[in-house]
Amino acid sequence: MIQTNTEEAFNTAPSEIPWIEPLPPWQLFEIKTQLLPTSKKVARNNPQLTQELFRRFTENTADSALSVFTDGSCHQLEKVSSCAFFIPKLQERKAWVLENYTTSFNAELAAIQQSLKFVYPLDWQDIIIITDSKSAIQAVTHFKWEASSLIPEIIELIKNLKSAGTQVTFLWIPSHSGIYGNEIADELANKTRTDPDGVTMAYTSNIKESLSKLKDRHKQETFIKIKALSTNLAVTNRTDMKILPWLTHKKRYIQVALLRLRSGHNKLNYFTNKWNSEISPYCSSGCQEIENNTHILIECPHHASARNPLIDFLVSQKLPLDVPTITGLNYSIPKHTQQQIAKHLITYLIKTKLINRL
Ligand SMILES: [Zn+2]
Repeated sequence: MIQTNTEEAFNTAPSEIPWIEPLPPWQLFEIKTQLLPTSKKVARNNPQLTQELFRRFTENTADSALSVFTDGSCHQLEKVSSCAFFIPKLQERKAWVLENYTTSFNAELAAIQQSLKFVYPLDWQDIIIITDSKSAIQAVTHFKWEASSLIPEIIELIKNLKSAGTQVTFLWIPSHSGIYGNEIADELANKTRTDPDGVTMAYTSNIKESLSKLKDRHKQETFIKIKALSTNLAVTNRTDMKILPWLTHKKRYIQVALLRLRSGHNKLNYFTNKWNSEISPYCSSGCQEIENNTHILIECPHHASARNPLIDFLVSQKLPLDVPTITGLNYSIPKHTQQQIAKHLITYLIKTKLINRL
C-alpha cells in the first residue's frame, strides 16, 4: 500500500474557502457570450486577417463599454501559475502569481475574477471580458459550479454587477494571433511569473481539484513502484498505467514470440545468461555486443538489410527508433499505425529467423 499525504492535498482548512451558495436553477440568468468567427488554426496561419476581423468586430462597441483583456499562464516545469488583465481604455495593467500552482484553466478563471473585482466599483454600462479560453467562458456561462473554486465567486460578481446595471459579456478570441490587447495580457502574465516581486493572489483549489491532484499523485507513485519491482520489459518500458490492448495474431507461435519479445522474458543470450552462465550474453551473430531486444531489433549489423523496411516505415511516420515503439508500448501511436509496425516487425523476425530464438 502506498502512502499518500492527504493532509498536503487538503492543506487549507475548509473554513478558509469562501463559500458561495450556488444559485438555484430558477435564479440562473443568461450571461452573454460572443465568439470571434474564426478558428485557432485559421488565426494562427493568418494573424493579419484575425486582427482585422477583431478590429471590425469591436469597431461598433459603444463608448459606454469597457473592454478587458484577461489571460492566465502556467509553467508546468516551474510549477508556477499566474494571471493578468489589461484594460486599454484605462491603460490599466495588472498581474498576479497564484499562491498555489494550478491548471491553466484555473489561471484563466483567476484573471477573469481579478478583472471583475477591479471593474466592480467603476461605473460602466457594459463590460466586455476578452479571453482566449473557451473552457473558462463555458464553465462560467453554463454555471459549472464544481469546475473550479473560482466559478461561484465569478458568477456572484457578474450577478451583482447586473443588479447594479452593468452587463458583462464574454468575447472569445484565438490566442497568439497578434490581437494587441491579448498579447499585452499574455506578456503581463508571463512576466509576473518569472518576476520575484510579482504580487501574489490567494488561490485555493476546490475539493474536486484536490482530489484529482491526489489521485494523479497516487497513480504516479504506484506506477513508479510497480516499474521498480518488475523485470518485465512490457512493464518497465511503459510510460502510462492505462490498459494497453495487446496485439493479437492468429498464428499462436507468432503471438507467443511477440509477447516474449515485449516482456523481455525470452531466449535471447542476455536473458538466457541470467539463469545459465554457461551461455555467453553476447550476440550469436558474432558482434561484441550484449544480445538483448535493443541489439536484435535496432543495432545488430547482421540484420541490417532485413530491418530496412521496418526502419523506413518508422522514419516515414516520424516515429522514434526505440524498443517501446517497435514492441507496441508507445502510447502516442494510433492503433492502425501500431498494426503496421507489428506487420513489419513480424516480417523481420521471420526473415532473420530471430522468431525461433524468442
Ligand atoms: Zn549482433
